[in-house]
Amino acid sequence: MQPQPVPTRDKITSTYAGRKANYWGTEAPGVLTRLPPGAAGVALTIDFCGGSSGNSADLALLTLLRQQHVPATLFLNSRWIAANQSLAKELAGDPLFELGNHGTSHAALSVSGKSAYGIPGTRNPGEVFDEIMTNDARLTELTGQRAHYFRPGTAHLDEVSAEIVRALGLVPTGFSINGDGGATFPAATVVNEVSRARSGDIVIIHGNHPSGGTTPGLVRSLGALRDSGQKFVALPSA
Ligand SMILES: [Zn+2]
Repeated sequence: MQPQPVPTRDKITSTYAGRKANYWGTEAPGVLTRLPPGAAGVALTIDFCGGSSGNSADLALLTLLRQQHVPATLFLNSRWIAANQSLAKELAGDPLFELGNHGTSHAALSVSGKSAYGIPGTRNPGEVFDEIMTNDARLTELTGQRAHYFRPGTAHLDEVSAEIVRALGLVPTGFSINGDGGATFPAATVVNEVSRARSGDIVIIHGNHPSGGTTPGLVRSLGALRDSGQKFVALPSA
């Protein structure tokens, strides 16, 4: 079956012009925040945000996942890809990982310019299209196929933007467990948060702050989860 053609920027702009959004946050209608019922484990999602303080790569985290055969969806932002081109190519070729789209400029995804944590959002449907599709092209270059999943910068979006993500053939992806608080949690807090994951949960952590508490916390969480019989699974095929 041929994939559906992707709507053009003009089509998105005309279709969504004048649509008002009511919701603003990380769990807009249509966002995948948990795995479907009957899921056989926990999905780990890892954001690589890029930007002036976010272009690092947590190589210890990637090594840990590979050693323990933990699958993960890696949400890459365009800025991070530009700063880590050879590593991005290597990750694209690793079957343990799936690459997701974490936006072009790391904007929150809004049709009306809302912001989150002081990070400005897109201001209209055309900017929503650009934020998604510029990085979509970068990821397609890296992997040879379009990504299935999109998570905006800050994970904040409104319900109209979530509809646009779906119209562009991607699944807007949130989380049910905030594992590292944007890479701000100390290791002990990461342990507490990640260790409570159970089948069906989607955990978010970050892969671009190697000096933070994320990986030391994850090391201990993986042991705790294994002891409680939990497995890690990939996000469902979209
Ligand atoms: Zn991010």
